[in-house]
Amino acid sequence: MQVLVYGAGQLAQMMYLDGAPLGINVMAVDVSNNAVVHPVSKAPLDYTLEQAIELADALTVEFEHVPEALLQQAEASGKLHPGIDAILVGADRVREKQLLSSLAIPNCPYQIVDDLTQLDSCVENLGERLIIKASRDGYDGYGQWRLKAATELPALKSQLAELDLKAVPLVVEKMLNFDREVSLIGARSSGGEVVVYPLAENLHHEGQLHVSVAPASASTAALNDQAKDIFTKLVNGMDYVGVLAVELFQCGDELLVNELAPRVHNSGHWSQAGSPTSQFENHLRAVLDLPLGLACNTGGEAAVSAMINIIGCDDHQMALLSVPGVHFHWYGKSVRQKRKMGHINVTASSYADLGSKLQKLSEYLSLAHFPCLTDEANRLA
Ligand code: ATP
Ligand code: MG
Ligand code: MG
Repeated sequence: MQVLVYGAGQLAQMMYLDGAPLGINVMAVDVSNNAVVHPVSKAPLDYTLEQAIELADALTVEFEHVPEALLQQAEASGKLHPGIDAILVGADRVREKQLLSSLAIPNCPYQIVDDLTQLDSCVENLGERLIIKASRDGYDGYGQWRLKAATELPALKSQLAELDLKAVPLVVEKMLNFDREVSLIGARSSGGEVVVYPLAENLHHEGQLHVSVAPASASTAALNDQAKDIFTKLVNGMDYVGVLAVELFQCGDELLVNELAPRVHNSGHWSQAGSPTSQFENHLRAVLDLPLGLACNTGGEAAVSAMINIIGCDDHQMALLSVPGVHFHWYGKSVRQKRKMGHINVTASSYADLGSKLQKLSEYLSLAHFPCLTDEANRLA
């Protein structure tokens, strides 16, 4: 079977790697020039985009910001999963908020702004601590501005005035004091079968994901049920096919949706080593209408996994492979500040075991690049 992925980054690469044992071949489209390439070597394949669309059994995306004309062409083949509407919801925060409201799914209080003078009413309605998000093209905290006090508003307005806000309406959110960030990754097949992974707990630094731990510590059955209920409402509401990631804020016992990613997600990478079926394999299974695989942690009730991103550096040592339960993925990209270069998965038999493995791992890493690692190791140990 053949799957064509729009986007030729690490997510397409990892789909390729997990499709191979099943005899599923993954091809990638470099959306900057429409070349069909090998997802690992990035070498051009001998197909035009039209030929690859024809050849593929399913088309999918590794990121939501694919040019809309390409998505329209893919949708017209009848083989794009998830469909264009779901992808555009993930690409546009205004559509995302409209979907959440229409399905009555709890999310962060917000206001949509297409004129900077409306920011004053946001402060009146939502308070003076705000997070202002461009509706499109944001990721890893880019395209966001924070207001920490009403007195900073004039300066922020002049900063935003430099941008072309006619083309980019803003979603202004109340800055929440949440207890923690979690995410739910799951898959739905076209027949309506749904599987979800355990809730993952996510540690961010400067708006970017650094560490995920699954299952999230102290996550009760009630919390997991609440997350699964949100997930099921979303995928059924969108008639969604494939893996969907739901980023959530936990406030007390309540989960609020932060944002959706209509694709495999960084906070699900732990599943490569920590689950019988990785998110990449389940995504391929879903888009090809194959039975979905188990999405629990491998190794029983107490088993736990972590994922540590390697960001903006390549100064890891291969010697870290000597830590038991460590798996390493390198994406083969050139180093840039804040760029995701690779990740490390760690599997463990308990949270305490995970804590001591993270402590060992930290001996092999230059800690300036891993700001969340030591704290997390100490918390779990
Ligand atoms: P991603 O790389 O996950 O797609 P993104 O750039 O799309 O990131 P968000 O997930 O919306 O942005 O925000 C990035 C981070 O900023 C969140 O994970 C969270 O830590 C913080 N954040 C976002 N919205 C809020 C909010 N309303 N209140 C408090 N913190 C927030
Ligand atoms: Mg995002
Ligand atoms: Mg996010």
